[in-house]
Amino acid sequence: MNESQDPTPVTVRVLLPLALQEAYSYRVPPGMQVAVGDYVRVPLGPRQMIGVVWSVNCDGLSEPSRLRDILQRFDMPAMPQLHRRFVDWLAGYYLEQPGSVLRMSLRAPGVFEPVHEKLAYRAGRVLPDRMTPQRQRVLDVAGEGMAMRAGDLADAAGVGVSVVKGLADLGALETVALPPYSPFAPPDPAGGGVKLSRSQAKAATALRQAVTARDFSVCLLDGVTGSGKTEVYFEAMAAALTAGRQVLLLLPEIALTGQFITRVEKRFGVSPAEWHSGVRPRERERVWQAVARGEAMIVVGARSALFLPWRKPGLFVVDEEHESAFKQDDGVNYHARDMAVVYGSLGRFPVVLSSATPSLESLVNAERGRYRHVRLDNRHGRAELPEIDLVDMRAQSPEAGRWLSPPLCAAVDEALASGAQALLFLNRRGYAPLTLCRACGHRLECPDCSSWLVEHRFRRQLVCHHCGHAEPVPQHCPACQAEHSLVPCGPGVERLAEEAQQRFSDARIAILSSDLQRGAALKDVLRDIAKGRYNLIIGTQLVAKGHHFPELTFAGVVDADLALETTDPRAGERTWQLLAQVAGRAGRGDKPGRALIQTYMPDHPLMTALKSGDREGFLDHEKRIRQNADLPPYGLLAAVIVSGKDARESELFARRLATLRPRSEAVQVLGPATAPLAVVRGRYRWRFLIRAGRKTDVQAYLRQWLDGVKLRGSLRMDIDVDPYSFM
Ligand code: ADP
Ligand code: ZN
Repeated sequence: MNESQDPTPVTVRVLLPLALQEAYSYRVPPGMQVAVGDYVRVPLGPRQMIGVVWSVNCDGLSEPSRLRDILQRFDMPAMPQLHRRFVDWLAGYYLEQPGSVLRMSLRAPGVFEPVHEKLAYRAGRVLPDRMTPQRQRVLDVAGEGMAMRAGDLADAAGVGVSVVKGLADLGALETVALPPYSPFAPPDPAGGGVKLSRSQAKAATALRQAVTARDFSVCLLDGVTGSGKTEVYFEAMAAALTAGRQVLLLLPEIALTGQFITRVEKRFGVSPAEWHSGVRPRERERVWQAVARGEAMIVVGARSALFLPWRKPGLFVVDEEHESAFKQDDGVNYHARDMAVVYGSLGRFPVVLSSATPSLESLVNAERGRYRHVRLDNRHGRAELPEIDLVDMRAQSPEAGRWLSPPLCAAVDEALASGAQALLFLNRRGYAPLTLCRACGHRLECPDCSSWLVEHRFRRQLVCHHCGHAEPVPQHCPACQAEHSLVPCGPGVERLAEEAQQRFSDARIAILSSDLQRGAALKDVLRDIAKGRYNLIIGTQLVAKGHHFPELTFAGVVDADLALETTDPRAGERTWQLLAQVAGRAGRGDKPGRALIQTYMPDHPLMTALKSGDREGFLDHEKRIRQNADLPPYGLLAAVIVSGKDARESELFARRLATLRPRSEAVQVLGPATAPLAVVRGRYRWRFLIRAGRKTDVQAYLRQWLDGVKLRGSLRMDIDVDPYSFM
């Protein structure tokens, strides 16, 4: 359908990026041409907003004169019909407001600013007579050389816009016109490829065929760590680019983008567009408008890149598809891997899911024949998969207050002595997960959450990992006032590093943890590790994901049992994925690798499967458990979380909600029960778990139950379809 040929509508409905269920009606003023998908500025109460024309002339309103006028239509490519359908589809599936989903698609507000307002500031010649710390910060940022808009400069310096404007009035900042966005160079699909091995070539052919078929399909690229999956899906990307189509490469972790951008540059000869929360506003605008125009051909990004207004998408690749980081749990709840598949099915183009440890969901989809299963069973070249052994901590436990067993230490010694790198993995940030008073047994707890405070020694603080509350470590026990009585219990990576420092005194240690490095700092450390500046890496799950360190030959898992002790039905699967990925960091280069896993449960099916490399055995075991309990992917789950500032009010509301649930043969509602994390940020939380057969329309059930429920005071209700968190 060619929408621009429709007769000019008189009234239209405009979806606004607000938590609204409905698009609002507006009048098209005489002389303005407006079509579906156009970006427009409209009045809303006393404000003005930018929205998207969602439909035309469908009101049947006889008096368009009572509506307010559209103020402006932006001269840019309309939001494609495909993207609008995606917004509506996602909102319907996750029971979110379409406006909230639209908001995620408009995260580059600067593109709507009029050209004459595109002024930027850079350091001027004069200094202000009176210098304040705030002014100094602005001048420091401006002194870095890049001309920035007032708002961006103020954000970067952590001050209000008025400080920037004030400095400009004084001449301490000078204004310049922002240059137009620089274009993205076209990639070269033919350049820079490697010669594929025979099995890789076969896999690449399968993927390429999916692309040239120009139809929806999903390929599960299931290959052991280091088998060359990236090289293989690059071939599929090349095929899409040759056909003139855009490609998205979705990654679970911003820290990985640097490495992938370098690889894309090598393969396709140009820098891809980069999209995630760490990208500066002006660059976001450049990417957004280039994707909207169909000029940015490759985007490497985090889950939010799905919401770019794709003009001619031809392939979405989801790397490390098993990662739960693709699930967003605040604001709009959605799973980016699943929504990538939905985008492909709405837009009739292929999707590639890649992983060394695919999710059970994807494996079962492959078994059911809905996904193509493309396998790579060997590492590329001479690299072998690491040998995995268990350390039975019941027999080999280290002395009290230590966490590294003798066999683990010996293996690290051996790796370091041979000039290689070693990795120690512990999935716990900070120094100690718990601090208690030796005198009275009091445990230090977050004032706003039901969780222990975690000591972070580098920051000299106790931190709540749920709400971010931080306080200095007290001198006295807050309960019994005893002095010097507080002791750390259990290890975090910082404490492990302390032990490693003593035990391996010559080692050059790097600690990798999301609270210690972010953004550029993290990129630097990762690069230095790859260069061999460090030889002992101690890290949280940040190190488990996709990194390629060719000199690393040993991976040690300090506490494998940590992830098993939760209420999460995917705990076994996740632990298996995590441990297999950590082990998979070892031996990716020429030297063979080895992994040791410390565990108190060496007989657990997961541990024995890891040791014997019996992936199918473990997966069969997991599948049976899920099938028997009707858990995903054999059944559907949804969660409803009710919370409020008052404990009693929250409970009463949850109990009343329970009485409202519709009777249904197909749907089982469990709860309400206090959430395992009973209090977060001072809010008392209750959970319902909804369980249904795979083919059930859970959304319809939830709507029937929850539509029209009134929320009073501080009460909130959060719906989570396909939940990944059970806290
Ligand atoms: P995976 O994504 O499966 O972990 P990668 O694609 O990162 O594997 O490959 C691991 C390493 O082997 C990378 O350095 C990659 O460039 C290299 N590699 C893989 N296949 C080939 C090949 N056919 N020729 C040369 N190098 C290859
Ligand atoms: Zn807290």
